Amino acid sequence: MNLDDTVVRTTCPYCGVGCGLLVSPDGKGGYKVRGDKDHPANHGRLCSKGSALGETLSLDDRLLTPVLDGEACDWDTALAAAAGKFSSIIEQHGPDAVAFYVSGQLLTEDYYVANKLMKGFIGSANIDTNSRLCMSSSVAGHKRAFGSDTVPGCYEDLEQCDLLVLTGSNTAWCHPVLYQRIVNAKKDRPDLKVVVIDPRRTPTCDIADLHLPLQPGTDTILFGGLLTWLYQHGYGDTGFVEKHTENLRATLDAAAWYAPSLTAVAELCGIDEGNLRDFYRWFAQTDKTITVYSQGVNQSSSGTDKVNAIINCHLLTGRIGKPGMGPFSVTGQPNAMGGREVGALSNQLAAHMDFAEDDVDRIGRFWGSDNMANAPGKKAVEMFEAIESGDIKALWVIATNPAVSMPDAGRVRSALEKCEFLVVSDCMQDTDTMRYADLRLPALAWGEKSGTVTNSERCISRQLPFLDAPGESKADWWILSEFARHMGYQGFEYTDPLDIFSEHAALSAFENDGNRDFDLGGLHGLNKLQYDGLAPVHWPVTSAGESPLAGKQRMFTDGRFFTPSGKARFVTVNPRPPGRLGDPEYPLILNTGRIRDQWHTMTRTGKSPRLNGHIYEPFAELHPLDSQRLSITEGQLVTVESHLGEILVRARISESQRPGSIFVPMHWNDCFASNAAVDKVVNAYTDPVSGQPEFKHTPVRATAWEGAWYGFVLSRQPIDATTLPYWVSARRKSLYHYELAGHQAASDWSDFTREMLKLSDDEHDWIEFFDSANQAYRGARFIGGRLESCVFISGDYSLPPRDWLMGLFDAEEITRQQRLRLLSGIPGDDSEDQGAIVCSCFSVGRNTLCDAVKNKGLVTPEQIGEVLQAGTNCGSCVPELRQLIADTLASAEHA
Ligand code: SF4
Repeated sequence: MNLDDTVVRTTCPYCGVGCGLLVSPDGKGGYKVRGDKDHPANHGRLCSKGSALGETLSLDDRLLTPVLDGEACDWDTALAAAAGKFSSIIEQHGPDAVAFYVSGQLLTEDYYVANKLMKGFIGSANIDTNSRLCMSSSVAGHKRAFGSDTVPGCYEDLEQCDLLVLTGSNTAWCHPVLYQRIVNAKKDRPDLKVVVIDPRRTPTCDIADLHLPLQPGTDTILFGGLLTWLYQHGYGDTGFVEKHTENLRATLDAAAWYAPSLTAVAELCGIDEGNLRDFYRWFAQTDKTITVYSQGVNQSSSGTDKVNAIINCHLLTGRIGKPGMGPFSVTGQPNAMGGREVGALSNQLAAHMDFAEDDVDRIGRFWGSDNMANAPGKKAVEMFEAIESGDIKALWVIATNPAVSMPDAGRVRSALEKCEFLVVSDCMQDTDTMRYADLRLPALAWGEKSGTVTNSERCISRQLPFLDAPGESKADWWILSEFARHMGYQGFEYTDPLDIFSEHAALSAFENDGNRDFDLGGLHGLNKLQYDGLAPVHWPVTSAGESPLAGKQRMFTDGRFFTPSGKARFVTVNPRPPGRLGDPEYPLILNTGRIRDQWHTMTRTGKSPRLNGHIYEPFAELHPLDSQRLSITEGQLVTVESHLGEILVRARISESQRPGSIFVPMHWNDCFASNAAVDKVVNAYTDPVSGQPEFKHTPVRATAWEGAWYGFVLSRQPIDATTLPYWVSARRKSLYHYELAGHQAASDWSDFTREMLKLSDDEHDWIEFFDSANQAYRGARFIGGRLESCVFISGDYSLPPRDWLMGLFDAEEITRQQRLRLLSGIPGDDSEDQGAIVCSCFSVGRNTLCDAVKNKGLVTPEQIGEVLQAGTNCGSCVPELRQLIADTLASAEHA
């Protein structure tokens, strides 16, 4: 598509789907973001997060200048201080006394420079990325099976298959555009079967022909059982196995020991035997089978074995490297794959090379370095342990928030506190991690950066800027290169990301000769015009290709793998119990993950009122059987406590949970809530091969929290509620929304509220009401007839609907009757209370939708879409629409 000069073609900075975007001015001083129809990942589609990117561009909470020991300074001062401190620590304690902790949010060019600097010039491999937390088990599993970290297929395979197995992946919420592609493929071909394997009944199950709610942690048994069953029933592809694989016998023997029969597997996994048989039969009889897996598989203390248990089944059936077939790992982050390519995991070198002697030598010669790291460095969890013990004394955190996202986050915070010198580069001025920094460096944000990213299907895309760099903010590659110059290193004289990309491409092809999967030789030497206009391309792109810029969608099409023998390896796996088992003291198993409309630690999505409208408060979801047993009711506050600590969140009761399990989202942190950073509770057991932590299995207990009062505030101005035991803040429309609770009722609610809202004694338009019988207090402030803020407090946690009140803030003048209703907390019949947002794209709320089902006879998502538009843009809410329709019809039947 030809674009006019005002449109910039770029990519989404959120998940590993890697959607292409078109960004253009909206004519009102902002930007509108559309899906790029020409991008192979999304063909024009976007999810709710991508669509709301335009709402996240404000500079109000940005870090715009370097800050050293709390004082703003210039770049030269900042980098001289950093280089001085790193140099003196290296001189006294050696290179392993310093470390970088980086991120899948970085562009490949930033990542490349960070890795080159640490491994090639500082001489330590202590650089690890937060992708360790996301998909390092897939990397390790790929390397064990294929001899290389290669994703075999592409997204089209998910549409071309006849059986799609989604395991450990809530695709509907975590990779929404990919999910929409699957939904559409299934609409076109209803015979395409979908099996979802997940302990929870997630929104992804909306399209499932079969849901297997397995016992958490039993995936290896399930797929080991499948391997045994396929072999015993003669479904192996003998020709492929003999010619292209090795180690089948030992793998089968091991699987036969732990998964001897279908009955035994069903019992161990806690699933219905008939359903398991259906799955095994479908897998056996469907040639075009894809198994997609994600964090539910990777984030486990036996994640690598789970990955290999899946790959084993595809090798036995020869289903790899062909259209519509293969194991397929979907990454969480936008550039997790780019990090893998440049070696930003501490146990890898650049360009998919390892610490083998000839790889170290080759890269050292290419970089002109005689100080190469020659052994793996610390993986993320080990790195923070080494900081806590004092072995690592200087740490540089780039574009990530480990104080929130690492397991046992309390210990990570204590390590950051102890760290002798902590540098944090980030675009935000306040994050939980930034609070510990000695040196804060302002980095560019999405919309300002230039470089490349690689998505889950090995597709490299350009990210291009459409905004000027604000304040003193700089690109991460520039910051690192200048730091290298201050350290006295040669080889970092880059003036543009193109210089770095070209070097990265050249290194990938250097002495490669087809021995390494990752080869961008065909992209070496692009000029600026070619680089800026680079169309999305699947690597490898070799210089020997027929067309210089042609990539490769599918790997292993010739049955040749990157092991020494050229054959794929069956990997013998043995199921292990999780790192820590539940016990009577901690009887529930905590699972953590994402929600639909938030991203990571909310630094960006938390700015979007539209996205906050879906779920604005951190929660713990429990099965009704557990909530009854524990006397916890919907909407109550609960503590979730493990042996490491506790958090305080809102209870949600849902049959989607498996009894005995509890789910808490990963996003909230100390910037948005009093105590809801779930990783403070999560244990730090790791996979022995990949080092990936076990985020999906921590034994906990849940207890109802008894407050003396509960309340909320809606205000046009922010307030400070941080002294309260429970607070959550969210941007909603043009308002600040706070949920609050306390241990002790105030002696005078009027004084308490006036102080909280910072009202003056002569505040002239303030109305309030106190009902002592019900311990209910309500107050509202008006300026020029408009509602400025309102406060609701009660001895009970059931409070008036917030969305109705938010509607009152839209009015230029609040009538007398509305004031009375406001104080009574009861919406009138004519008041609009659309309820919590279900469709973020068109801001359609739950109450509006329930009314449409009950009173307008709209009983399918399609009918609702026609009348209310809900679900017709990104489609992320369609599973919730279907559930809402079912629930509303069921309750109408019982009324
Ligand atoms: Fe961004 Fe959504 Fe696409 Fe992921 S699916 S890349 S979050 S638009």
